[in-house]
Amino acid sequence: MDIYFTQVPFLTWMESMASIAEDVILCRKCPRLVEFRESLASRYGNGDGWCKPVPGSGTTRGRLLVVGLAPAISGANRTGRILTGDKTSDFLFSCLYEKGFSNLPYSRSRDDGLMYFDIFLTAAVKCVPPENKPQRQEIDNCLPFLKREIVALPGLRVILVLGRLAHESVLRAILPAGKRKSEFPFYHGNSYGIGNLKLYCSYHPSPRNVNTGTLNREMLLELLDRIREDIQSP
Ligand code: SF4
Repeated sequence: MDIYFTQVPFLTWMESMASIAEDVILCRKCPRLVEFRESLASRYGNGDGWCKPVPGSGTTRGRLLVVGLAPAISGANRTGRILTGDKTSDFLFSCLYEKGFSNLPYSRSRDDGLMYFDIFLTAAVKCVPPENKPQRQEIDNCLPFLKREIVALPGLRVILVLGRLAHESVLRAILPAGKRKSEFPFYHGNSYGIGNLKLYCSYHPSPRNVNTGTLNREMLLELLDRIREDIQSP
């Protein structure tokens, strides 16, 4: 059953983000992804590389949740922290930093000193998929983790989805019964009020989208300005 955020009695059964992270890291529900993520260990060399599912990261007091697609080979599957260690994270954090959501304009490794301000980040799928393409069953398998993370953020006001797949997973997590996903189409800059949450859509900040100009800094910064206004409004 889908979770409708405003109807969840989270104050009575809210679990900690740490216990969710423990369950994520131990998960082996998708055989194809387990095999793929572990097979990458040899690529990193010298025992380097996380090669496990990657839980969300940030402050659980965050009013903004950013949801990406999945760990990347050179990013989170290597470093063990979501949106860390690749060109996607460099671009994203340069913008988050400029708008006051972090203390550093990059996210390079788990010991880089990064601090999060009012923000939590996660992915719709917690394991790196081949060619960045998780299968339908794998997305379904991972959806309960995303729902649990959303519920474990008691101050949440705004969700920013990075890309169409994250958008679809978030809608499945928060839409109330009777609402259809087609009422909330994905397009960069679109925003929707859903219950007491606001949902914002951004193209994914992948090198491909950035290099082709599909997404540029101004587009993402403008979105973050709108988000900042929303989370600071009474
Ligand atoms: S993608 Fe999600 S459900 Fe599948 S193995 Fe990884 S953590 Fe588990």
